[in-house]
Amino acid sequence: MTFSDLHLIPPIQKALTQIGYINPTSIQQEAIPLVLKGQDVLGSAQTGTGKTAAFSLPIIQQLVEHKPKNGRTNVRALIVTPTRELAIQIAESITEYAQYTNIKNTVIFGGVSQNAQTQQLKKGVDILVATPGRLIDLMHQRFISLEHITHFVLDEADRMLDMGFIHDIKKIIAQLPQQRQSLFFSATMPKNI
Ligand code: AMP
Repeated sequence: MTFSDLHLIPPIQKALTQIGYINPTSIQQEAIPLVLKGQDVLGSAQTGTGKTAAFSLPIIQQLVEHKPKNGRTNVRALIVTPTRELAIQIAESITEYAQYTNIKNTVIFGGVSQNAQTQQLKKGVDILVATPGRLIDLMHQRFISLEHITHFVLDEADRMLDMGFIHDIKKIIAQLPQQRQSLFFSATMPKNI
């Protein structure tokens, strides 16, 4: 199978060709058609299997196809991941995948000043990649509203639980609109996930 079998829009295909992706990995082959159809997905995948593209590519495509006509840019996709390193990596990949679209992303994480992050948010982004603590902090300060979220990704769900993020995750999910697409990825699938 090649990426051209997955019905991705030309600006995304162009980016993939430029990056050098030809064949989708198995998680990409399985997840991309389901996510494009708007289904919720619980994916079992380790880091290194191509799971970032598995959720990002179909989300970018849906955001392009449903870009509001009024020119407003609200955060419509939220990706929550446990560590700063993963958050930065995901945001860098999304920037590459979306380079020929009008979809903007940014990344927020703790341990650094929030000013550069809030400046980026004020410019308007479609996709936000976040670690849980800083996300909740900026939500409380009203720099971020989750009211327009249509796509929610929980990455490395098992590590989130191990790292004690369960209360933060519950708080975040409580703020999401009922009507949304949810994608959960986890390397292991213990019962509590
Ligand atoms: P991830 O599991 O998303 O962190 O991806 C692991 C690595 O595989 C990253 O360096 C990606 O750029 C690369 N990658 C993801 N999908 C593909 C693909 N279909 N073909 C070649 N490389 C890929």
